[in-house]
Amino acid sequence: MPGRTVIVGGGLAGLSCARELGRDFVLLEAEDRVGGLVRTDVVEGFSFDWTGHWLHARDPEMRELISSRWLAGNILEVQRRALIFSEGVWTTFPYQFHLHGLPAQTIADCVIGFVERDAERPVRNAADFVLRHLGEGFARHFMFPYNEKLYRVSCEELSPEWGGRFIPRPSLTDVVRGALGLSRDEVGYNATFWYPRNGGIESLARGLLSDVSGDVRVSARVESIDPARHHVRLANGEELSFEQVVLTIPLPAIATRLVNAPPAVREAASWLQAVSVTVVEIGARDNGGERFHWAYFPEARFPFYRIGSPSQVNPALAPDGCRSFAVEFSHRGPIEKERLIAQALDGLVECGLIADRDVLVRRARTIPVAYVLFDHAYAKARATVLDYLSAQGIQVAGRYGLWEYSSMEDALLSGREAARKLA
Ligand SMILES: Cc1cc2nc3c(=O)[nH]c(=O)nc-3n(C[C@H](O)[C@H](O)[C@H](O)COP(=O)(O)OP(=O)(O)OC[C@H]3O[C@@H](n4cnc5c(N)ncnc54)[C@H](O)[C@@H]3O)c2cc1C
Repeated sequence: MPGRTVIVGGGLAGLSCARELGRDFVLLEAEDRVGGLVRTDVVEGFSFDWTGHWLHARDPEMRELISSRWLAGNILEVQRRALIFSEGVWTTFPYQFHLHGLPAQTIADCVIGFVERDAERPVRNAADFVLRHLGEGFARHFMFPYNEKLYRVSCEELSPEWGGRFIPRPSLTDVVRGALGLSRDEVGYNATFWYPRNGGIESLARGLLSDVSGDVRVSARVESIDPARHHVRLANGEELSFEQVVLTIPLPAIATRLVNAPPAVREAASWLQAVSVTVVEIGARDNGGERFHWAYFPEARFPFYRIGSPSQVNPALAPDGCRSFAVEFSHRGPIEKERLIAQALDGLVECGLIADRDVLVRRARTIPVAYVLFDHAYAKARATVLDYLSAQGIQVAGRYGLWEYSSMEDALLSGREAARKLA
């Protein structure tokens, strides 16, 4: 069929691309329902997203589409309550604005380190970035252990692209006021967010799908993409021709599926690394423990890096009198789910979030490609693969197609942009 576009991947990026194209496309999704990471499972009255997904929308057109169409009448606006648990104390996120309550020595380390930081330090890696902008105390007590737990490498091994732009930078006044308990609460890029009243975050993907008219196929896994012959082959052997193609699956997976990709491109793709995340989902009776939407755990004694509490964002996500938690572990390579479930329960008991290990729901799910690793090979390897795809006339979109750290809104925007470029 001339003019037909094939879109590979039915997450937000693929769906947004399909909506923007409007016609003459086939969207191929490997799983049995669309949404990608934006899906919600209901288990014994608890709704679990595929880990916490809170919606921040800045683009005016996206805000309008989300609030007036895809989630019309179905939005809660939530004031963020993000905490940090460290040295036995709950403090407010971001750490650098809220030292109050921590041990005096930690506060002194952070304040003195901030004052004495070298604001001219050259930035060759994430460690330099943190030391230059926040100083040694913040680095040692929060930024280094947290990032190293999340990315499973040292901050020296992370390149400056790793996410410094998301880190709120305080003034000395902010640090001192935070140490004295006089800080403002609403610091950072996500001080308020949207979340669906009903249906969990998957209702966003469903709303978007209902705005897509065209050929959306599920259980359609693409095995190979042949740019020269303009066709894709599915796992069931079927071949589909295309005039144009938009890929939203992970960039390394694209490279391995490309027919006749040069060895240099395959080699570059093999340098692209990511960490996996296993989320332990817990449904429990509410024991009145600390309230938060999500909390960060920098200390090595906790093997998880973050705990979300979905039912605190929207009580409809848990039965009356209950609370839900999503305990997130990052890893590279295989893990033993039962061990992580046990560690999650131990951690929840230790922090006073559940009374005992006798919970109502406990299960674990793994996201194999969760966080792109911004190591020193990242920029060159990514550019090599993207340049080759561009030269073949192949568009990529989405968090994993573009191989970046980005949000749901970014995925929607990049899908829209890919469609507009095709047009
Ligand atoms: C732990 C974690 C927490 C997050 N929290 C937030 C948050 O709070 N707020 C926020 O805005 N964003 C959050 N995000 C980011 C958000 O999930 C992503 O930006 C967004 O969902 C990416 O959408 P996508 O379409 O680009 O990719 P995906 O959702 O990964 O979609 C890609 C699709 O391609 C399909 N696919 C893969 N291979 C094939 C194949 N061979 N053939 C056909 N189909 C295939 C997959 O099944 C999938 O459906 C989070 C991400 C993670 C990992």
